[in-house]
Formats: sequence, C-alpha cells, structure tokens
Amino acid sequence: MKIINPATEEIITELKEDSKESLSKKMTLLKQGQKKWHSIPLAERVHILQKFSELLKKNLEELAGILTSEVGKPLQQARNEVNGACARIKWLTENAERYLSDEVMSNQPDMQEKIVYEPLGVVCNISAWNYPFLVGTNVFVPALLAGNAVMYKPSEFSSLTGLEIEKLIKEAGVPDDVFQVAIGAGATGQTLLELPFDGYYFTGSYKTGQYIYEKVAPKMVPCQLELGGKDPLYIADDIADIKSVAAATADGAFYNNGQSCCSVERIYVHENIFYQYIEEFVKEVKTYMLGLPNEEGVYISALTREPQLHIVDAQVKDAIAKGAKVLTGGKRAQRKGYYYEPTVLINVNHNMSVMREESFGPLIGIMKVKDDKEAAELMNDTEYGLTAGVYSSAQHRAEKVLAQINAGTGYWNCCDRVSAALPWSGRKHSGIGATLSHAGLRAFTHPKAYHLKG
Ligand code: NAD
Repeated sequence: MKIINPATEEIITELKEDSKESLSKKMTLLKQGQKKWHSIPLAERVHILQKFSELLKKNLEELAGILTSEVGKPLQQARNEVNGACARIKWLTENAERYLSDEVMSNQPDMQEKIVYEPLGVVCNISAWNYPFLVGTNVFVPALLAGNAVMYKPSEFSSLTGLEIEKLIKEAGVPDDVFQVAIGAGATGQTLLELPFDGYYFTGSYKTGQYIYEKVAPKMVPCQLELGGKDPLYIADDIADIKSVAAATADGAFYNNGQSCCSVERIYVHENIFYQYIEEFVKEVKTYMLGLPNEEGVYISALTREPQLHIVDAQVKDAIAKGAKVLTGGKRAQRKGYYYEPTVLINVNHNMSVMREESFGPLIGIMKVKDDKEAAELMNDTEYGLTAGVYSSAQHRAEKVLAQINAGTGYWNCCDRVSAALPWSGRKHSGIGATLSHAGLRAFTHPKAYHLKG
C-alpha cells in the first residue's frame, strides 16, 4: 500500500497490508490477552493510558510532522490535534473510576441492587483519517479503560499515524495481546467484519457505515457509528459584532481544510445583516494563506484525498449552473498537490448539492433567511444530524431554535467544537450511539444487573 503526501503527490513509503491470516492471528492473540487485561485494577489501566498521553506530548513534534506528511493538514493544526487528544485522555482517565465502577442502586436490608459494567471483550475500531488522534482516542482509550482488547484499523490515509499510536500505546504499558493495528484499506476492513469481534466502533462516511451496520447486524453485538454531517449555522440579526462572528464562523467552516465531521457546511443569515456579514466573511477568507502545510502561517493546505477535489468541484459547478454566485475561490489551485481554493458561494438554495450533501472541503454556501422559523426549517432540511449552531445575543432565542433541530449537538455562539465531557453523537445519517462523556465510557461495556438477596 503506497502512502502518498497529498501536498506534493510524492510517495512517502509503502506498507504491507494485513492478510486474512495475519488478522485472524491478531484476533486470536487479542482474545487471549483480554481477560488478563480486565483482571488488572482499573487504577492501573488509568495509569497506563495517562502514560500514553505523556508520550504523545513528549513526541509532539515528530507525531505532528508524520500526520501532516500523510494527511496534508497545516502543521500547527496537527500539533493542535495531538494536544486535543491529550485533553480528551485527561478527562476520560480522570472520570473512568466514577463511571465504570460498580454502582449500588438500592440497598435494602433484604435486597441489594447493583450494576456491574463488564467489558464487551475484543472490540474492533475501524477509523477515519481526518483526525486520527482524536477519533481514535474517542474509541480505543475508553475501550481499554473498560477492560477490552482492541483491534484498531486506522484509515489507509493515516496508517503511519496508526503505527505511531501503536508504538506509543505499547511503550506506555498496554500489552501486545491487548492492542493490535490492522493495516490496509476497505478490503482489510471487510475482513474485520467477518471476524467474531464483540463490538464494532466505526468512524467514517455514511455509505461505509450503513454497509457495516448491515453486515454486523446478524452478529447481535454492539455496533456504533460516527458518520458525516452537513452542519448548519444560523446567524441571527441581533449579534453584537458582525466582524468577529464572521471570522469565528469562517474558521468553523475552513479549519482542517473543511475536512471535519462537524465543520460548518452551510450558513443561514438573517436578511437584516446578510450583506454586512458576507462582506466581513469574505474579507476574512481572503486573508487565509494557501500553501505547503509545513510553511509558517499556512491555513489552507492540501485536501487529503484526490477524489474529494472532484466532489467539491462538482458541487461548485452544480451550484453555479443553478444560479449561485462565487464570491471567492471556486476552482482547484494551480499547483502540485490536492489543493482547492477556499470558496464562498451565495445565491444558493436547497436544490443545489452544496446545501444538501457533505462537501468535506474548503467550500461554504451562505443563504439569506427572513426569520428564525425559516432558518430552523432549512437547518432541519437534511439527511444528517450531527451538530447545529446559532449566533445571537440572546441565549433563549438561540436555544429556542436549537430545540427544534434534530441533531446530536447544539452550539450557541460557537461551532466546530467537541468536549470530552459531553456526548458526541449523530442522528439520522450522522450515526448511532455516543462516544465521550459518561455515555462514551460506558459504550464499551455490558451493564450487568445484580439482584442480591441477603
Ligand atoms: P470512509 O467511510 O471512506 O472510511 C472509513 C474507514 O472505513 C477506513 O478505515 C476504510 O478503510 C474503512 N472501510 C472502507 N470500506 C470498508 C468496508 N467495505 N468494510 C469495512 N471497512 C471499510 O470514511 P473516511 O473518508 O475515512 O472519513 C471521512 C468521513 O468520516 C466523513 O464523512 C466524515 O464526516 C466522517 N467522520 C465522522 C466523525 C464523527 O465523529 N461523526 C469523525 C470523523 C470523520
């Protein structure tokens, strides 16, 4: 399998993909190791994962460099990602004891009722490339804390990072028979679906997620899916500072070259401030420096996958053909590598793919609305349901709109944000189940009910 630098199109290295035999051997190893891992005290597992976080910090520069070389994200954003993973590990490890320990629910003289959070066994994590440290951490850290063994399959576009994670997690003290990495693309994932795992945790596209859900169903094991989004923002007409809101929301749309599951993908602006907002928004986008991801000051760099350039370009062309106006960008950058100019469209509507299908690139459609009601209706007019945000000076106004939106996360005066203390969950085509928070720690357990009559 060739590993390509998307910013230069050069081959970085080649990796040997796992075969059916090697995956089957790794699975057997994990089955053997899991029980011993579960038998060690939780405090020790916590300590090991905290050590892993320390190693991430210690190796920050090297890890960020490797990540940037294979996914193309600006180096500073790669550093931010590793630091972000450490913050999540801090919350998960500090709260593991609270949410994974046995819970006595009632204690009557003749009857005690308690819940014991038993691990599932060996879990399979098939993962995405856009934030390998973050989306990986969301799964394998709580899974290990809960006493499971893990088969981690990084995306074929972030395999070098996956191998670094394996190296450091083992250096921290997770035994070889408790954590294994599966190297390869879709065919490797397919083989994992055929093996008898005790749970499947997938991060990726709706198309693959739906396929996995169907394949796993007959096994009757937990299957959790963190999928794509078409996340909307509404800018109400009572915002105090249009310039700073325009800058913050442009960052929400273009950070990581727009390749975040919770990137702002469409914006609705109240008609009273529409033209002032787009003027400030475009001014901000024009300050973004496009260039090699390891150049100082670069904010827009290469997309990770070449096919995504064609998806973004097709959305732009479809929108223009149906009457949209390009305020900036609108085409592939003329240079080597998978670059697309940051693009802002207006005069858009919901007959255009840019307002309905995930763009996953540096592209945003901005639409004028007459009131909060119209904004809420358009925000809900999607197959997806990951996040939604409202910018307004009034919290009650924002919450009133957010309460109507069928999405797992609501933002008031912020966007493109994840907190380890809150559940991260999608609705509709954005997924099933939650990671992070107490829900995400317990997602890797079977709660067993004990009725203890003394
Ligand atoms: P993808 O679906 O193409 O691939 C994801 C993983 O599935 C990869 O490891 C891939 O090798 C594997 N895979 C592909 N075909 C398979 C098959 N037939 N059987 C088993 N495994 C298979 O997605 P991607 O391009 O890596 O990620 C981008 C998508 O992920 C976007 O839609 C993004 O929004 C979403 N995402 C969601 C979240 C979230 O938390 N909700 C986070 C990050 C990314």
